[in-house]
Amino acid sequence: MRKRVLVTGGAGFLGSHLCDKLIHEGSDVICVDNLFTGNKDNIRHLLGNPYFEFIRHDVTMPLYVEVDQIYNLACPASPVHYQYDPIQTGKTSVLGALNMLGLARRVKARILQASTSEVYGDPEVHPQPEHYRGCVNPIGIRSCYDEGKRMAETLFFDYKRQENLDIKVVRIFNTYGPRMSMNDGRVVSNFIVQALKGEDITIYGDGSQTRSFQYVDDLIEGMYRMMNNSREDFSGPVNIGNPGEFTIKQLAEKVLEMTGSPSKIIYKPLPADDPVQRRPVIDLAVQELKWEPRIDLDEGLEKTIDYFRQFI
Ligand code: NAD
Ligand code: UDP
Ligand code: UDP
Repeated sequence: MRKRVLVTGGAGFLGSHLCDKLIHEGSDVICVDNLFTGNKDNIRHLLGNPYFEFIRHDVTMPLYVEVDQIYNLACPASPVHYQYDPIQTGKTSVLGALNMLGLARRVKARILQASTSEVYGDPEVHPQPEHYRGCVNPIGIRSCYDEGKRMAETLFFDYKRQENLDIKVVRIFNTYGPRMSMNDGRVVSNFIVQALKGEDITIYGDGSQTRSFQYVDDLIEGMYRMMNNSREDFSGPVNIGNPGEFTIKQLAEKVLEMTGSPSKIIYKPLPADDPVQRRPVIDLAVQELKWEPRIDLDEGLEKTIDYFRQFI
């Protein structure tokens, strides 16, 4: 029997790679997406597959399907997109999680939440282990996303405690790769597109803030291992990220060098509440999932630059 797997946000950057992996592993995949930031082009190659089904649907509304596993990824992830309609972002995170948990309860499916390193906010502990509780502004411009994702985690653990649900939570750190959209607004896609077009590279602030960048294939493998982990009592949350940490200035210089671009670096104001530093502790993933990232920033950027070249 093929496993029936629901992926919300399945037409997005990460969701579409996950659908590919699940189809490859022999699952029957239902992809649900309202196409807010996702794109049919990301899943076009799957549309004729008899084991793949696309449903255009907003997860803030109830959904009735019969499945064995649910990956809940629906939510805009780039600050530009999640701040465009923050009320909808909050609804997507909270009501979306609630509806998917209700669905999981009814059909007795295992459910995985795509949480985020943003639950650590602007962290005062560095690097960040899972037991760190974070430093999040509840009323700022990033809060719709950060607090929405925190509430979603709360709902997941309350459904586990109260309803005995089989839940898994992964906290994803900055992930990049092919199928990020050109106008996504996140730093890796912005810098590559700017470099390839010969436009100015926009560093926000002085570029000394850090991020740890993970290539998409590593993330998908980690998320898949968490979902299929044999220990039902292990729900996480578990960090999935690459501990290689870089300043934004280093990233800009790397992209310039790798593209051979004549672009100049310019500096723009740092957005409010922009985290100063971020790096995952991944000991838990290594121990429980036998997982660690395999693709370093140079190799991952090479693949991502190649992907963007076809559009420029
Ligand atoms: P993305 O914007 O490409 O994908 C999100 C998808 O969700 C899109 O296809 C969008 O159309 C869909 N969506 C949004 N609101 C919806 C709604 N109300 N109903 C149905 N579909 C909806 O972003 P991504 O990078 O692929 O992120 C996927 C998930 O992973 C998100 O939950 C995000 O918070 C999480 N995440 C991503 C990263 C990262 O670095 N990429 C880091 C941490 C967490
Ligand atoms: N829900 C859903 N699909 C289902 C079952 C439930 O979308 O197959 C939604 C339901 O509409 C509700 C949420 O999930 O808004 C939580 O459901 P649950 O049964 O846990 O709680 P209740 O319905 O009692 O509020
Ligand atoms: N950033 C930047 N230039 C850009 C886009 C982003 O300097 O064109 C910075 C941003 O201010 C942040 C970092 O790069 O410090 C990562 O931003 P991104 O939006 O990719 O992810 P997040 O802030 O959610 O980690």
